[in-house]
Amino acid sequence: MTISVWILEDQLLQQHPAIAHALTLAPPAEINVVMIESRKAHRRLPYHRKRLALIMSAGRHYAEQLERAGYTVDYRKADTLAHGLEQHCAVYKPGQLMTMAASHYGLRQWQYQTASSHLACDVIVLPNTQFLTSQFDPYPKPEPQKRYLMEYFYRKMRKHFDLLIEADGSPTGGSWNYDKLNREKLPKGHVCPPVPTFAPDTITLEVIQDVNAIETAVGSADDFNFAVTQAQAQAAFDDFLAHRLDLFGPYEDAMTSQQDSLYHSIMSPYMNLGLLEPLPMVEAAINRYRAGSARLNSVEGFVRQIVGWREFIWWQYWRQMPGMRTHNHWQATKPVPEFFWTGETEMNCLKTVIKRVLRTSFNHHIERLMVLCNFCVLAGIDPAEVNDWFMSLYIDAYDWVMYPNVIGMGLNADGGLTATKPYIASANYINKMSDFCGGCAFNHKQRHGKDACPFNILYWNFLIKHEAELRANPRMGPNVLALRHLDDEERAIVTLEAQDFLATL
Ligand SMILES: Cc1cc2nc3c(=O)[nH]c(=O)nc-3n(C[C@H](O)[C@H](O)[C@H](O)COP(=O)(O)OP(=O)(O)OC[C@H]3O[C@@H](n4cnc5c(N)ncnc54)[C@H](O)[C@@H]3O)c2cc1C
Repeated sequence: MTISVWILEDQLLQQHPAIAHALTLAPPAEINVVMIESRKAHRRLPYHRKRLALIMSAGRHYAEQLERAGYTVDYRKADTLAHGLEQHCAVYKPGQLMTMAASHYGLRQWQYQTASSHLACDVIVLPNTQFLTSQFDPYPKPEPQKRYLMEYFYRKMRKHFDLLIEADGSPTGGSWNYDKLNREKLPKGHVCPPVPTFAPDTITLEVIQDVNAIETAVGSADDFNFAVTQAQAQAAFDDFLAHRLDLFGPYEDAMTSQQDSLYHSIMSPYMNLGLLEPLPMVEAAINRYRAGSARLNSVEGFVRQIVGWREFIWWQYWRQMPGMRTHNHWQATKPVPEFFWTGETEMNCLKTVIKRVLRTSFNHHIERLMVLCNFCVLAGIDPAEVNDWFMSLYIDAYDWVMYPNVIGMGLNADGGLTATKPYIASANYINKMSDFCGGCAFNHKQRHGKDACPFNILYWNFLIKHEAELRANPRMGPNVLALRHLDDEERAIVTLEAQDFLATL
């Protein structure tokens, strides 16, 4: 029987389960691997060219690596995935097509429900192994409307995988969470170590030409320098461990106009493609702490991002799909403002962060959450539109990670199923954590008035508008309490100025 293995573009794993399964039945020389670049998928949205370049270059490098290992690789460019598979089956006539369950809800449905009949071939879908929850699910039968806290999810994961746990079962250092130590502003003039770059080889140069020809794409890939192989991704991670992990914690929430990614790891592009896997990464970080070369609050913070947030987000996606796509708790209907595609706005924080993503295809977490999503919640931007904007531009964007982060965490549009409160803040927070306000046309201290930062006007407007609901949320209590400083006249001014500002978007 002829065997084919179908590898999806974000499943570039060292140990791919479908290959491992096929190898129990036949040697590499008798296994055909099919990989498909779908024209439709790469044109569904105006994607950033760096995002497309990464996916396509990493895929082509992976195919080359498999060929070197003795497999026959059918690397196809097709209109759609289904067309690519049809063409493959017509030529190779597999008796069985093995694959791993997709990370994308719709594609996974297709794999399980339609692929066999559509391709007239026995399609075997193996469980997805890219996440730790495939080995241990802290809440295997979640109740539909129950709010699950990331913190308890994370503790269960830490215990199960024995990460930063002492012999008596207590968390290393006595605490589960060192967040309080991780809120420092970057000192003026502080220069963060550079992120390693990788010169494009011939495969990547060809990919850059291909993405330049994609007329629907935005941004430039001409200066593309991301890692595109497992070895390069590992080198990038080793560099993070050696030079940035130690100060990852303290400056995790800091933002600056001077440097793009500070002490962040920039590992999401590689992890989401399968080039790096979570467990060895967090174990390597913990080894740094045990060896005395990285502080505990940094290492615990990094472990929490991966074993806590990343896994929780994946878990929330599968728990809430397909309904997650249409959540709109705050009934936000405004389109994404035009300046989100240009960065041309007088608000310095938004200008810096948007121009950064248009240039690099990346913003770090706090820029995404506390500048971009904060603005979108306060301004009432339609969640589905915001999601598409993020999906288009970010180098690490995939369906499973975008919906829970944007609809859930960022916009609180799921009514609190992912995060227990809306992450909203006035200009005070942005000023505290960044240098953005210094060079801004607006005054971050003024609550309203001609020069007041729009974040302030919109923040108070949001509190006024949703006062009753926010008051009922224990985590929003202190914010709502501050409304007592605004008398009726001031409330009316804020409401009016917010309307005027929103009319300009
Ligand atoms: C609105 C919004 C959109 C986002 N979109 C994406 C996205 O498309 N793809 C993506 O991978 N992450 C997304 N995130 C999560 C997070 O911002 C990125 O994972 C992080 O900025 C990637 O940079 P890094 O690798 O330097 O992360 P670090 O700060 O170094 O963190 C280490 C790792 O933790 C993981 N991680 C941390 N937080 C999250 C999270 N909330 N969800 C998933 N993984 C997490 C990532 O794998 C990351 O590489 C989004 C967050 C928000 C608020």
